[in-house]
Amino acid sequence: MSRFIPVIGLEVHIELATKSKMFCGCSADHFAKEPNTQVCPVCLGLPGALPYANFSAIEQTVMFGLSMNCKINRFSKFDRKHYFYPDLPKGYQISQYDFPFCVKGKFQIPNSKNQIRIRRIHLEEDTAKLVHQFGDSKEKGISLVDFNRSGVPLVEMVTEPEFSDVDSVISFLQEIQLLVRYLGISSADMEKGSMRLEANISLAKAQKSKLQSEDLPNYKVELKNINSFRFLRKALNAEIKRQKRILRKGGKVTQETRGYDEYKNITFSQRIKEEAMDYRYFPEPDIPPIRFSKTQIEDIKSKIPELPAAKRKRLEEKYGISKEYIEILVQDKRRCDYFEKSCEISGNKELSAKSIAGALINQNLDRKFESPYEFIRYLKKISKKYYSSLKEIEDAIQKVLSDNSKAVKDYHEGNSNVIGFLIGQVQKMLKGRGEPKLIRESLIKALQKD
Ligand SMILES: [Zn+2]
Repeated sequence: MSRFIPVIGLEVHIELATKSKMFCGCSADHFAKEPNTQVCPVCLGLPGALPYANFSAIEQTVMFGLSMNCKINRFSKFDRKHYFYPDLPKGYQISQYDFPFCVKGKFQIPNSKNQIRIRRIHLEEDTAKLVHQFGDSKEKGISLVDFNRSGVPLVEMVTEPEFSDVDSVISFLQEIQLLVRYLGISSADMEKGSMRLEANISLAKAQKSKLQSEDLPNYKVELKNINSFRFLRKALNAEIKRQKRILRKGGKVTQETRGYDEYKNITFSQRIKEEAMDYRYFPEPDIPPIRFSKTQIEDIKSKIPELPAAKRKRLEEKYGISKEYIEILVQDKRRCDYFEKSCEISGNKELSAKSIAGALINQNLDRKFESPYEFIRYLKKISKKYYSSLKEIEDAIQKVLSDNSKAVKDYHEGNSNVIGFLIGQVQKMLKGRGEPKLIRESLIKALQKD
């Protein structure tokens, strides 16, 4: 029987955390603000208002593109994308069509050998927000428009449809969220809508284990309105199941946009797409095209901080700490800086990086001690206690050995199983104090001396 392999592509929208909007001077920080208080003729789309591009947003988009190994177009421009909807006051959105800022990138999925190709990354303006209010009945309901979000810079990243499993999709997206936060270009907060996900998915019937181009399906289903990774995982799994069921029966999957009902754990049809929408794109006449020199691109590149993937590698090479510790530190930049500062202070003499990371993470000592200096001072004090207890451990071992001469005899006759019993006795005598590894080593040393 042939297998079905999911073919998944992603579209990710990220709202940039610039001070002002994309084409006017209004504040871009729109979350939970009084409706329609951060607006002007430009972002309200009033006739005659002239947009001017926010260079900081362009720079951030290029920075994001470089971090995803994209090629930066030396020539790019903005275009008008036309469609009618109440959240779009001008009747068009300023976006980018044939010359986006970034193209042809590739990005490694964390903990995997696979790379995903990035088709493009472009910059556009966000739309206004519709607020639906229902009165006593649905008929009496009204829809209000809040223009505070209108014109906020929005980056769109499109991947090639190259994911073949849901786990990879989720780890890729989590890494993008982390990357964006490292770059400091967005909070990428899905609850607040500053990161939004869309996935397109179809199933390929493959005879071989690897997909051939002729296996690629001729349809795709878009999943929209997804506001968490958990939600996306469930929606993708439900959709894969649905498409498999149709294809196994010999049916055809309709090309359409679907939403996800978490309560019923099914996807449902929202809009059937007959063919590609005609947006009547044309160049935005009010904004001149943008040209980048090599030096400008190099300049932006130099502003990119160390990114998560590089940090993981460096932490492993420099400190030799476990993968689990590394991941915890990489996920929390502040904590990682605290850890590195602590290692620097301790100077690698009495305390190992491993013990510093362990104390920091397992006991949350960075919360107890505001400064890494205090933390290291405390750790050194503790470890002195620990060293002085070495004598205590040795005394306890001597006592246990003389109290259990039969076990000692058994050990010398080749029964090494008794070690566990003896360790237990020592621990009992120490009332649980002392490091197990140290007890074991000291015990064996003592037995061999015997
Ligand atoms: Zn404005």
